[in-house]
Amino acid sequence: MNVYTLPDLPYDYDALEPFLSKQLLELHHKKHHAAYVAGANTALASLEKARSIGDVSRVSKCTRDLAFNLAGHVNHSVFWTNLCADGGGEPTTVLADGIANDFGSFEAFKRQFCALATSVQGSGWVMLAFDPVSSRLVTLQLHDHQDCMTAGVVPLLMLDMWEHAYYLDYHNAKADYVAAFWDVINWDDVARRFDKALAPAS
Ligand code: MN
Repeated sequence: MNVYTLPDLPYDYDALEPFLSKQLLELHHKKHHAAYVAGANTALASLEKARSIGDVSRVSKCTRDLAFNLAGHVNHSVFWTNLCADGGGEPTTVLADGIANDFGSFEAFKRQFCALATSVQGSGWVMLAFDPVSSRLVTLQLHDHQDCMTAGVVPLLMLDMWEHAYYLDYHNAKADYVAAFWDVINWDDVARRFDKALAPAS
């Protein structure tokens, strides 16, 4: 059976300071992200067992566990690669045009994204995504890892708004964490994801 594995970060644990301390990033990656990888594999194994013994009584619970943990794994995998040590600035190329077309301007997009991030109730994420149905960019605010997700959208840029993502460094100053995020965004990675979404496997 294929299993999920924790990807290495594409940089050292101290690479994103002062946005994220080494201690916070290491905990976030090695403990929190790793727990979602393990949880997804556990849910898959439970479903396999249920099939093998012909017991469907737990498949609903296991499927909810799979959705939560797999979304946690996918979201973090996108989030890590969205960041880099010398990031920031603004996107260029078609991504810049897409943002201007669908949000009015980069500044308007940034305001909307920040407002969604700072207004997450409980645990969640904010996401810039490409919707292939309407061929446009949208922002989503996820509860936990996956609630309020729209099927088929392609994540381009994600920000983790769970307390574990910032509390060690920022305490309750959520807006400071959101503001600092813009200095480490790897727009090349976001643009690559957008290019791929615009021209799927051809
Ligand atoms: Mn997290």
